[in-house]
Amino acid sequence: MSRFLTEKYSVLEPYIPGEQPKDKHYLKLNTNESPYPPTKKGAADAKNEALDCYLYSDPESTKLTAALADYYGLQPDQVLVTNGSDEALDFAFKAFCDKDHGIVFPNITYGFYPIIAVANGIPYEEIPLQEDFKINVDDYIAIHKNIVFANPNAPTGIALSRKDVESIVKSNPDNIVIVDEAYVDFGAESCVSLIDSYDNILVCHTFSKSRALAGARVGYIMGNKELITDLRTLKNAQNPYNLNRMSQAIALAAVEDPSYFTNNCKAVMSDRQFTDDELTKRGFIVIPSSANFVFVSHYALPGDELYKRLKEKDVLVRHFDKPEIKDWSRITIGTHSQMKAFLVKIDEILKELYDSQNG
Ligand SMILES: *Cc1c(COP(=O)(O)O)cnc(C)c1O
Repeated sequence: MSRFLTEKYSVLEPYIPGEQPKDKHYLKLNTNESPYPPTKKGAADAKNEALDCYLYSDPESTKLTAALADYYGLQPDQVLVTNGSDEALDFAFKAFCDKDHGIVFPNITYGFYPIIAVANGIPYEEIPLQEDFKINVDDYIAIHKNIVFANPNAPTGIALSRKDVESIVKSNPDNIVIVDEAYVDFGAESCVSLIDSYDNILVCHTFSKSRALAGARVGYIMGNKELITDLRTLKNAQNPYNLNRMSQAIALAAVEDPSYFTNNCKAVMSDRQFTDDELTKRGFIVIPSSANFVFVSHYALPGDELYKRLKEKDVLVRHFDKPEIKDWSRITIGTHSQMKAFLVKIDEILKELYDSQNG
């Protein structure tokens, strides 16, 4: 830290992303990326845009915004496209929270929320999950505070129904409820349809998971026109050309090819069931997931131990130090053959464990 950094930022603790090591080839099941590549058309469109990079990108991402609005049955002024959904979350925190209007979220959820709050000087409160890792809806009814949660939640993969989210939104009419649907395409109910009925809900999506474009950094946030106008004002004040040409093009191609997207999501969901069944057979506790990962524990393999042993075998999974979930591991669902390869390593580890206990 230099001696010039302002006090405000000297308290920042950066988000620790899942590792992206380059030392050798790993089977990467640690950051919830899609195992499938973007379409050839999308890649070609991005390449073409690269030729025009001497000119600024469209600050309004007009075509992409229109395509998304069309896809969800919204008006373009109900959608703001952002540089990853992390940027959408940052704009929403900045626009609707301040030191006197804090924000509330579950104590186990996406690790970026407290960091955005601290970075913006916004006080936050964490509400514990239930023992079974579910969000207790009653905890959020009429609390009259701004709220954010991931639905399905991360890293548990557990989703609330639209009806439950609606009761939260409805009972806090004078506060903003941000529903982060980063994983919604893997089998949960989206709350986009609530946007026309409630003026206090924002729904945030990303291209990083189900749309296989983590490296393009594209997200979007949807809500009623007034809310989105506020967010657009912030965007224009902070980063008017927030999306580069290549990302706009590759994301547009992704929206225009819904069957590629739905087939990939279906494959992930079917391999999620396969992974759940196979791990359960091997003595793991697997929380039924509505996301592209499973959250698991094993009585003989605490989270850090499983992480270490898998890494020795060139497989990366995600482990969190938070005391409530330190015994657990989050495993991203890859392709079917990746999950089979993963299970071979699990079998080796379980055998080594058994041999060492009985040797
Ligand atoms: C991955 C993820 C995001 C961030 O997505 P980007 O668009 O890559 O910034 C947001 N929320 C949750 C819950 C996520 O898991």
